[in-house]
Amino acid sequence: MSSKVDTPAAAGAELRLQTEEIVREKAAQLHITLESLAPEEILKMLHDLQLYQVDLESQNEELRRVQAELETARTVQVERLANEQRIIISSMPTGLCFLKDRKIQLANPAFDLSFGYEIGTTKGMDTSEFYPDIETYQRVGNDAYASLADGASYAAESLMKRKDGSLFWCSLTGQAVNPAKPEEGSIWLLHDISERKSAEQNLLESNRLLMEAREEAESASRAKSDFLSRMSHELRTPMNAIMGFTQLLEDDRNHYLSDDQRDSLHEISRAGTHLLELINEVLDLSRIESGRLLLSLEPLEPGELCLECLSLLMPLAEQHGITVVVNVPSGLRIQADRLRLRQVLLNLISNGIKYNSEGGSVDIGCDLLPSNLLRIWVSDTGPGIGPEFLPRLFQPFERVTADNSHIEGTGIGLALAKRLTEAMNGSIGVKSKPGNGTLFWIELPQAELMEEMEASPDAPTAPVPVPSARERQVLYIEDNPANMRLVKKIVSGLGGVKLLTAESAEAGLELVETGRPHLILMDINLPGMDGFEALGRLRRNPETCGIPVVAVTASAMPDQVKRIEEAGFDDFLTKPINLQLFVAAVNALLEKPV
Ligand code: ADP
Repeated sequence: MSSKVDTPAAAGAELRLQTEEIVREKAAQLHITLESLAPEEILKMLHDLQLYQVDLESQNEELRRVQAELETARTVQVERLANEQRIIISSMPTGLCFLKDRKIQLANPAFDLSFGYEIGTTKGMDTSEFYPDIETYQRVGNDAYASLADGASYAAESLMKRKDGSLFWCSLTGQAVNPAKPEEGSIWLLHDISERKSAEQNLLESNRLLMEAREEAESASRAKSDFLSRMSHELRTPMNAIMGFTQLLEDDRNHYLSDDQRDSLHEISRAGTHLLELINEVLDLSRIESGRLLLSLEPLEPGELCLECLSLLMPLAEQHGITVVVNVPSGLRIQADRLRLRQVLLNLISNGIKYNSEGGSVDIGCDLLPSNLLRIWVSDTGPGIGPEFLPRLFQPFERVTADNSHIEGTGIGLALAKRLTEAMNGSIGVKSKPGNGTLFWIELPQAELMEEMEASPDAPTAPVPVPSARERQVLYIEDNPANMRLVKKIVSGLGGVKLLTAESAEAGLELVETGRPHLILMDINLPGMDGFEALGRLRRNPETCGIPVVAVTASAMPDQVKRIEEAGFDDFLTKPINLQLFVAAVNALLEKPV
C-alpha cells in the first residue's frame, strides 16, 4: 500500500479495495472454521443464535416501553411546570407582560388591573396606550431598547396612564428573552410605586416646610438680636447719664453731701450697676445663641487671672465675711479668651461667696489633667445644692435654691458660664451635696509652654503708665444733651483740656477746619452723617487725617465693635461712659505726638 494518494476520489477507491480485501480474508477464515466443525455443532450454534435473537427482541421491547414511560413522565413534568408558572404569573402582585414590537403578547391579571383594564383585555394593545404622552413613550422606548440591544436589563421609573386617563407612577424593569435577538421579544415587570412617590413628595414638602420654618426661626432670631442691639442702645444711653452723673456727684469734693444723700447715691449706683450687668448678660446670651460671639483665644496664666478676680471680689467677700484662698501655681498656661474666662471665674467665685454660710470660705485651685486639659475649681462651704436642682443649674433664669431671693442675682450667670466655656473648647461641671458645700470646675485646653510664649514676638508687653493730660483741645460730637453735659463735666475736671462741642457730624467737621482739635470724640449714631462717614472724611483730608478719633457708642454688639475697629478709629468707648476708662483713653491719645 505504498501507492501515492493525491485526491479524495483516489483515497475513496483505495479504502474500498482495502475493505474488500479484509472481507475476503474473513470469509475464507469462516469457511475454513465452518468446514472444520461437525454439523451438530453448527446446528447448536444456530439454535443459540436464535435464542440470542429472541432475547434481544424482548430487551428491545422493554427499552421501548421504558422510553414511552419516560416520555409520558416528561410531558407531565413539563405540563406541571407550565401550570406552576401560569399560577405564579397570574397570582403575582406585580404586573408582568411579554412584548414584541412594543405590542402586548401576554399580560398577567396584575398588569391588566393596575392599568384599569379587565383581565385578559390588554393582549394585542400597543404600549403607547399606557404612557401619558408620546414624548414619554418614545423616551422610555429609546432608552429601554438601547439597553436591551446591549444584552442588559432596563430599569426606570415613569408616569403611566390608566384606561380612565388617570396617571400613576410605575417602576419598569425589562429584559430581552434572547439578548442576542431582542426583536424576539422582551419580558417586563411593572410595579405601581405611587405610594412611595407620594411619600417622597410628602418628605420633600416637609423638608421644604422645615427649611421655611428654619429660615423663619433664623430671621426671628436675627430680629431678636437686632431688637436687643437697639434695646441695648436705648437702655445704655439713659444709663450713661444716670451712672455718669451719680459718679460725678459721688466724686464731687466741692459740695458737701450728707450721709443720707451719699447712701442714696450709692444705692442708685448699685442698682444701676446691677441693671447694666443684667443688660450685658442678656446681650451676651443672645450673642452666643445667634452665633455672634467673638472670641480671641490666647495663652493665659490662670493663677494671674484668679488673683485679678479675687481683688475685684474682695469687697463682696468682706461684706459677707467669707475667706477666699487662691492656690493656683504660676507657670501654667491655658488657651482662652481673657475677658470671657474672667467673666466665668468671676461668676463662679462670686457665687461661692454669695451662696455661702456665715464665716465660710471659698477655695480656688487647679489640677493638671491627662489629655492636655487644665481644671480650675472653686469650692465653697455653703449649704450646697439639692440633687433635684442640679440638672437645671445651667439653664438661663433658673435661680434654683428657694431661699436666695434676698441674694442679688439674675439667674443667667451659670448659663452664660457654660456657653462661654464651651465656646472656648472647654467644659463646666458641678458636684454638690446639701450641707456639704459646692464644687464647680471648668476644664480648658492647656496652651504651649511659657518659654515658647516668651520667645514669641506677639508676647504681651508690660502696660505703659498713663501720662497726665497737657493743654489740648478736644472736640466732642454728640447729639444727646445728657451725654454732652456729662462729658463737659468730666473734661472740666481734667484741667488743661478745652472742650469744643458739636451736635452733628457736619457741624463737627466745620469746627475741625477752624479749631484743629488734638482729639475728637465721635458719637457713632448721629442724625444725618454718621460717625463712620465723618471719620472717612477726616481720614481722606491730609490736613486732618492724623487727628486721633475715639468712637463713642451705645452698642457694644460684636458686629458694631468690629466695624468700629475696621473703620480705623483710634479707640472706642461704650456708653454708659466709665469715668476711669474715659480719662485714661483721653490722656493716652492726647499724649501721642500729633
Ligand atoms: P445668680 O447667681 O445670678 O442667681 P447663676 O446662674 O450664677 O445666677 O446661678 C444660678 C443659681 O444657682 C443661683 O441662683 C443659686 O440658686 C444656684 N447656685 C449657684 N452657685 C451656687 C453655689 N455655689 N452654692 C449654692 N447655690 C448656687
